[in-house]
Order: sequence, then C-alpha cells, then structure tokens
Amino acid sequence: MNNKNSNRMVEISGIIAGAIGPGKVLTDKDILDKYSRDETADLSLLPDILVRARDTSDVSAVLKICNDNNIPVTPRGAGSGVTGGALAARGGVILSLELLNKIIEIDCENMVAVVEPGVITGDIRRAALTMGLLYPPDPASLDICSIGGNVAENAGGPMAVKYGTTKDYIIGLEFVLPDGSVITTGGKIVKNATGYNLIGMLLGSEGTLAVITKIFLRLVPAPGASKDILIPFDTIDEAIDAVGAILRNRIVPSALEFMEEDAIKLVSKFFSGNIPFPDAGAHLLIKIDGSSDDSILSDMEHISEIINVDPEKIIAAESDIQRDKLWKARRSIREAIHLEDPAFMAEDCVVPRAAIPAFVKELKKFFEIRGLKSIMFGHAGDGNVHVDVLRSGRGYDEWKMLQPSLKEGIYKMAISMGGTITGEHGIGFSRKDYLHLALSCDEIELLKRIKKAFDPKMILNPGKIFSDDHKEPDDSPPC
Ligand SMILES: Cc1cc2nc3c(=O)[nH]c(=O)nc-3n(C[C@H](O)[C@H](O)[C@H](O)COP(=O)(O)OP(=O)(O)OC[C@H]3O[C@@H](n4cnc5c(N)ncnc54)[C@H](O)[C@@H]3O)c2cc1C
Repeated sequence: MNNKNSNRMVEISGIIAGAIGPGKVLTDKDILDKYSRDETADLSLLPDILVRARDTSDVSAVLKICNDNNIPVTPRGAGSGVTGGALAARGGVILSLELLNKIIEIDCENMVAVVEPGVITGDIRRAALTMGLLYPPDPASLDICSIGGNVAENAGGPMAVKYGTTKDYIIGLEFVLPDGSVITTGGKIVKNATGYNLIGMLLGSEGTLAVITKIFLRLVPAPGASKDILIPFDTIDEAIDAVGAILRNRIVPSALEFMEEDAIKLVSKFFSGNIPFPDAGAHLLIKIDGSSDDSILSDMEHISEIINVDPEKIIAAESDIQRDKLWKARRSIREAIHLEDPAFMAEDCVVPRAAIPAFVKELKKFFEIRGLKSIMFGHAGDGNVHVDVLRSGRGYDEWKMLQPSLKEGIYKMAISMGGTITGEHGIGFSRKDYLHLALSCDEIELLKRIKKAFDPKMILNPGKIFSDDHKEPDDSPPC
C-alpha cells in the first residue's frame, strides 16, 4: 500500500470508529494477518481494516461509510470457506459477523429458528434437537462454520440427499445493502409468493450482494431413530448402481456417502489398516432415519435384498461408538490427505448421480497420464464428487503453474457429463476465472446486472465470482 492509500485507510478507520465505537475497529498487523486467510489452501490476501460488528446498525453504518468513500468491504463469517470468499481480494475492510452470534429464538410451535449470522451451525442443530426439532443441513464443517456463511455459500452436506441443502431451510432474511439500508424479506412463513424471491438471490451470493444480519430457519421434526451401515463393493460402478437401486426402491437414506479405492487406501494407511474393508474397490456409507426402529429395520432388510452384496459384509452400527467408527474413515479423508501433502488441490464438482463412475474413472485417467495421484469421495446420493489432487512430488512453482490446466480439465469433464463446477463450495476467488466454462455469456451478464442493482458502486466483496467485476456489465467483452 502506498502512503496516500495508507493515510486514506487511517482516515476511514477513524470515521468508522467514530460511528460505531473504537473497540470494534482493528488495524493491528498481527490481527489483520489472521483475517488474511480462510481454509483455502495456499491463499492469503491482506485487508487494511478489520471491523467486528456487534449488531445490524454497526453493519449498516460501516457499509454506508464505505459506500460513500468507495472502500471495498468483504463480509466474513467463521472463515471456513475453501474458495477464498471471505478474503479481501482488493484490500479495504473485512466486516466480521462473528460477534453477531445469538440464537434469538427457537419457536417450537411454528418450527422456526431465528438466528444471527455468526452462530456456529452445529450450535443451531444442537439447540433445535433439545426441542425435538432438526435443522438438517450438515456441512462437514458444522462446528467451524457460521450460518451466515452457509447462506452465502448455499452450503450442503451428507444429509442433502434426503433433506436438501441450506436453500431449502431459509424462509426469511434481514440484510443490509451497501448503501446501509436494511431490508427484511420473508419471516416465520413457510410459503411466500410475494414478489421476486430475494432469499433465492442472496442464497449462494457469496457476500457480493448484501450483508446478512438475521436468518429465519425452517426446522423439521427430528427423526425418532436412525441407523448407519457400511457396505463394501468391488468397484465404484457397483456402489453407484446400488445407490440408484436403493432410491428407486423408495428408500431415501439421510446420507449416502461414497469413497473410491484410492480414498480407502489412503485412510487405511492413515489408520495403519485399522478400518473396515481396507481392500474394497468402493465403500458406501448409508444413514437411514425414520419414525421408529421398526421402520428402519425394514428399510435395512430391503436394502440388503436389493443390492448385490453378501449380507454378511454389511456392517450396521449398534451403538454411538460403532457409529463413530463407521464414519471414522470418511470423516478423516481430508486429514489423511493433509498428512500426505498439505498443498493438495480440492474440487467439489457435481454430476448427475449415474455419471459418478464415469466421472471418477475418466478423471483418474486424466490424472494418471500426468503422473498425479487423486483421491475421490463424496455425496453419492446427490452426485457431489470431491476431487482432491495430490502434488505427487512436483515442486511448489511447477505445481502452481499446473493447477489452472488441471482445474480446467476437471471442470470441463464435469460439464461434459451434464454437471457443473461446484456443488457446495462456491466460486469465490479461486474459481472466478472458470465461471465462463459453466455459465453462458447471457447468464453471466444477467448475474452482473443483478450485482449492479444490489451494489451500484461495486464495493461489496469485489474480486469474487466474476473475473472482471471492475468492468461495467455493458463493457464486458464477450466470453
Ligand atoms: C474441513 C471442512 C469441511 C467442509 N465441509 C463442507 C461441506 O460439507 N459442505 C459445504 O457446503 N461446505 C463445506 N466446507 C466449506 C465451508 O465450511 C462452507 O463454505 C461454509 O458455508 C462457510 O461458512 P463460514 O461462516 O466459515 O463463511 P466464511 O468462510 O467466513 O465466508 C464464506 C463466504 O460467505 C460470505 N459471508 C459470510 N458471512 C456472511 C454474511 N453474514 N452476509 C453475507 N455474506 C457472508 C463471505 O463473504 C464469503 O464469500 C468445509 C470446509 C472445511 C474447512
């Protein structure tokens, strides 16, 4: 930052501190450094100022000051994003929502939770369960991500196959526009056909349209019982065929997770061989929930009849400890990969469910030709495949240079099979140069016009989603 910019930032931090109180505005280098990273591998972008808002009026005041002064503002939840969405791509202010962390109300009668955006998602789930209610979206980051970040990313998780993703549970939002105006849309109502669906626009908007300050969540009755089973298969084709057969037979498990052979081998190595079926070609991990133990038992029997696996090989967890053991391998994949090489590349493409085997096999060939090891796993029920690629001995610079062509190859393959480039993690900073692969020019142009309508001065989270968001929509070259 040059002196002129630096003086300007000192001046802006003073104006913000004057408006909302000095303790909430921080410019200390060590603190800014912490907020220069999220969970995206190998990415750090330093902000100039950190503001920790405490309520909606703080958010409104900060946005108005920044809008008037053309200062970029990047909203931040818990910083667990993996595409750099919460990092200050163009400097300016990081507006942290972590202190807006109250569960305002759990309304049992209407089955609605009203929460602030900084609440950790797992805390909402636990609070609802104490009242016999369930907030189903369950990103694997449940205990390290915030609900505001989940709305902004439209987060999903293993339970999406039965219950859907974040988008299926947001019935009301309070949000602040860049000019500081506060809007509330929806509320404790399950149906709403009044005007454009602003909730839908903010879902997955990655902090580029408005800052979310209050969220109304639809809850559902918690299931009376659940059971987890692990089934080994010789091949990924057989595992995915079984997924189709289970769903076609009207059994909708609440989780249907898969791991392919290399993922199983890697976690087996991580646990010194101490996982079930370490030599299988694929694992399916299934959670069934329902109103009673009887209904679950009947679903389990039905599953063992319709899939082509020796029933002796199906492991069902009989206790919480056994349940944790079954999930141990699936939950530890990232840790195992990290141990192998922290500089891995992580993608989360989505393809039509039946295309998973072809997608996995074609990608394996793509990486093998390049001498790269890949690990694939994910949500078999909804076609969301996590593709993690290891550096496989490449030097840091070579690996960095290789990544754009790898990403492009992965994305093009997903798209050619009727899928798209991300099912959960969003575009953010690290995928913005590839949006044109998945969306038409006309669609990108329309998204930019929506962005401009919410944020005419383009101050909110610039440098995300669009590769050229500093240009006016009409000036954009054809993509
Ligand atoms: C180990 C691990 C496992 C994960 N598993 C999953 C998974 O299973 N499913 C999944 O979907 N994701 C997963 N993620 C990714 C991540 O947890 C999600 O994207 C999550 O929704 C981010 O929430 P956050 O509060 O950390 O948001 P942040 O990382 O702080 O921000 C993410 C984006 O949301 C915006 N934002 C945050 N709060 C607000 C707000 N109040 N108003 C407007 N914009 C806002 C930011 O500007 C940014 O663009 C995982 C991450 C890790 C590290």
